[in-house]
Amino acid sequence: MRSSLQALLACAALVVFPTLRAQGATAPDPVAFDHLLQQLNDGTIVPGSDAAVKRTLAKLHSLLPPHDAARERSYGYMYCFLAFQSDASGGVAYAKRGVEMARQAGDLKAESNFQMCLGNYLIQTSGDREALPSFDAAVRTARRLGDTHLIADALTWRGTELSLLGDQAKAMIDLLDAQTDYEKIANAAAPARANLVNIASLYRRMGDYDDAADYLRQALAAIGGAREKRQLLAIDMEQGFLASERGEPGAAVEPLQRALDLAREIGPPQNVGAALLAQAENSNQLGQYDTALQELAEASRIFQSVSDHSNTDMLALQSAEAHAGLGQHSLAAQEFQAAASALSSSGNLRYLAELYAARSKNEEALGQTQAALDDLKRMIATNKKLEQKTKAQVTTLMRYRFDSARRDLENRRLADEKELQSQKLASLESVRKWQWLAILLSVVLMLGVAWLAYRQLLKSRHLHRLSLIDALTGISNRRDIDHVLETATARASQSHEELTVVILDIDHFKHVNDAYGHQVGDQVLRETARLCQDSMREHDRFGRFGGEEFLVVLPETDLEHGLMVAERLRAKVAATVFAVGDAQIRITVSFGVASLRANESTPSTLVMRADRALFRAKQTGRNRVESA
Ligand code: GH3
Ligand code: MG
Ligand code: MG
Repeated sequence: MRSSLQALLACAALVVFPTLRAQGATAPDPVAFDHLLQQLNDGTIVPGSDAAVKRTLAKLHSLLPPHDAARERSYGYMYCFLAFQSDASGGVAYAKRGVEMARQAGDLKAESNFQMCLGNYLIQTSGDREALPSFDAAVRTARRLGDTHLIADALTWRGTELSLLGDQAKAMIDLLDAQTDYEKIANAAAPARANLVNIASLYRRMGDYDDAADYLRQALAAIGGAREKRQLLAIDMEQGFLASERGEPGAAVEPLQRALDLAREIGPPQNVGAALLAQAENSNQLGQYDTALQELAEASRIFQSVSDHSNTDMLALQSAEAHAGLGQHSLAAQEFQAAASALSSSGNLRYLAELYAARSKNEEALGQTQAALDDLKRMIATNKKLEQKTKAQVTTLMRYRFDSARRDLENRRLADEKELQSQKLASLESVRKWQWLAILLSVVLMLGVAWLAYRQLLKSRHLHRLSLIDALTGISNRRDIDHVLETATARASQSHEELTVVILDIDHFKHVNDAYGHQVGDQVLRETARLCQDSMREHDRFGRFGGEEFLVVLPETDLEHGLMVAERLRAKVAATVFAVGDAQIRITVSFGVASLRANESTPSTLVMRADRALFRAKQTGRNRVESA
């Protein structure tokens, strides 16, 4: 009964070996394949009969694209779940091969599913305890992959199995975790609904009948108008168990009958057997021992037909109770013995307590007072153990709930902290950004200012240069040539070097202006200046002294050489014909030359002497060079 219920709740359709013939074969279509696989996984589609399983597997196979190894493995585990229901040993072998193959391919999803399938068949061939490691492995593999739906599936299998083994606290943790996962994801409504019944059955096993009833109500509400038969079957069965265990066997009759009818309608045979076994247990409670025996006989036949030996202990126990009830105490005693050995190996305390109580009564009827007393003691001890275990489980469960609540809080706090941290970081980042911007702006500003300053410097230099140049002739103006003269005088007097100056003045320039006009006069001035300038040596300086008068400063030059320079200039100008417009103009220039004397340190007397020499040159006929 237990493994059948397990198969009923968690797996779904479990019928006879289907031979794959592509009836109504469809073309390979990976999208349609994935969709159908998912529907089968979620329990949206549950093939209820042999023929339906065969059809479904054929369709799934025909959708399988060629050379698609991953989907072939998916097909493989679905085949594993559906195809071996009456050949559990075949299923075990197939699932083991599947696990190995998936592992070699590194396909965690297939591996986990094959592990669940293996557990499912191991329950029937070897028992609940032997099946548990497969479900453990399935959970581990699913967690390695991190697939929420797969993890929830594996947790459901393991939780259901743990509950059957009496470890209700661990079972509850798995089932509640699975439920949380299912409710979190899409396409998991069906397994989420089915799991509500699992949780109800767990509460019942813990003796928490109110919570069990509450979860059953939730499960009923969850199917709503859908009236899924498989889900209804699970709920009816669970309602029957609940009423029966609450000591209300009368209330269990109706739901158990409904469950049996549904099981006969939708299969598989294990479900019919499970419903009959439940009815037998209830009939015993009602004192209807004949009915119980009939139900047990049919159940036993059905389980044998599908080689399901997982309910042998319960069949024996119920049969013993029925025979005891009918007064066939010796037969009952034998059956109790068989049930006891089966139950003590599975270690199910609830059933053991039931066995000791029933056997004690039977022994009393047989007059075996001591044995009856021993069994009573065993019953009390077992009940005490059960009570302690339940208490421990409730404590564990409460601690788990407290821990997960605290974990949630802690997670939320960490999330808040992280959020705050990232906000801080973001604002720091933006401050940094602004800082960079400010630095950049300052640099741009500084560059701008530097550029402006440089421009200003160039401009002022230009202005300065302009201020030293005579606008008309382009040579040094009075200011500049005065400065040059001053510097040269100071240097020469300090280092006792020679220094000679020449003052020259154009002769009768007034006439030029008068004869040709002022503009022509200007042009002649310019040409004369250029002529003289071009004749200067590198260190000699030439400037306009005023009007048509010029000054030449000749450093490191004595009077004799100064006179030679003046003479050369005079001859050059005198030989030049200035062509201005139509006019051919000739001019002459007079020169006064003076050299620095040892006692002179300023240019004033030097210039005065040169001026005087010039005056003499004018006096003595012009176009001449005179020295001081
Ligand atoms: P000399 O020196 O030989 O005695 O005769 P001069 O005619 O050159 O002498 P004076 O000093 O009387 O006249 C100088 C003339 O030079 C007067 C002025 O018109 C002219 N002059 C002075 N500066 C300029 C100038 O910048 N442009 C023109 N076109 N003429 C100028
Ligand atoms: Mg003059
Ligand atoms: Mg003159």
